[in-house]
Amino acid sequence: MTFSANWNYPTNVKVGAGRIAELADLCKAMGMHAPLLITDPGIAALPMLQKVVDTVHSSGLRCGLFSAIKANPTGENVEAGVAFFLDNKHDGVIAFGGGSALDAAKAVALMVAQNRPIWDFEDVGDNWTRVKSDGMAPVIAVPTTAGTGSEVGRASVITDQVQHLKKIIFHPRMLPEHVILDPELTVGLPKGITAATGMDALSHNLEAFCSPFYHPMAAGIAVEGIRLVKEYLPKAVADGTDLEARTQMLVCSSMGATAFQKGLGGMHALAHPLGALYDAHHGMLNAILMPYVLNANRAEIEERIKRLARYLGLSDTSFEGFLVWILGLRQELGIPHTLTGIDIPDTDAEKIGTLATKDPSAGGNPITFSASQYQQIFTDAVNGSLSYS
Ligand SMILES: [Zn+2]
Repeated sequence: MTFSANWNYPTNVKVGAGRIAELADLCKAMGMHAPLLITDPGIAALPMLQKVVDTVHSSGLRCGLFSAIKANPTGENVEAGVAFFLDNKHDGVIAFGGGSALDAAKAVALMVAQNRPIWDFEDVGDNWTRVKSDGMAPVIAVPTTAGTGSEVGRASVITDQVQHLKKIIFHPRMLPEHVILDPELTVGLPKGITAATGMDALSHNLEAFCSPFYHPMAAGIAVEGIRLVKEYLPKAVADGTDLEARTQMLVCSSMGATAFQKGLGGMHALAHPLGALYDAHHGMLNAILMPYVLNANRAEIEERIKRLARYLGLSDTSFEGFLVWILGLRQELGIPHTLTGIDIPDTDAEKIGTLATKDPSAGGNPITFSASQYQQIFTDAVNGSLSYS
């Protein structure tokens, strides 16, 4: 079964196979004459991307292409995108690709209207009120991976190369006005990327669900998002051309980012500094860290996890049963059990523990871990020591 639908929550979403064909009309409806498509170099080289650009061109729009973006986009990448946008007099942004491309594109759309450096808008306190929202470029987001959910997020994660930190740049209007979720754009994703990005979607839904903040709407979205991962991620990895599985993974990815307005937690608090220090894949980091962080949070989340396990229909609905499901899912998807498995050593453990406490995601963790507790979770994840029961 495949789906086609239009939603206006949390933003305007067109979901269904082949819906990318509506991109040019959408640009026109938003008043764009010269959209700038921002993507990463890998996607820019694909025939699929050239076809999209050609289609927008042939509809009478002057469509530019900017793709000088790193896997973990930097402040310099954003600056270069802003210069390109302004030099070529673009009037809108098509954010196209995986989380990195979407984050970079949303940051460019924000920064074309600012005269302060991007770091002045880091998601700390009320920094976002410094943004001049007049002149921000309108954005259409088209994800080609199912994981970050950046297409429905109000923030971008950008790496500060001077401080070696991933910083969250936030403004409410960074939520793209329109989103196209077209599963046909994701069928070419290799198994490894499908698995790692899908586990990122799981970590968003799961950390949002576990976060102690009061937000029952977000909690409801998270629960169903986790069920979709359980049912469809193994299918999407096993058969990349399964359009139903690909559609559902795009949807639960958007659900994860919608749900995490309720908060993230320790997985992301550790994954952000690790990504900045080792340039490791964000979804892969969360996937590896997941059981270690859940286990460390057990005292605060056990009842909630049991309720979730009942909804998921697990045969063992205890906390252990839930962990066993996570471990089995990781194994089925080919995710390593330890950070050593992706060549991350424990040499910087103390520093990483400290950085995790400073990451904004730490605020949503059910337990306020100290630097030494984060250090312990990290070294456990390096060494594979997970004791539970
Ligand atoms: Zn994430």
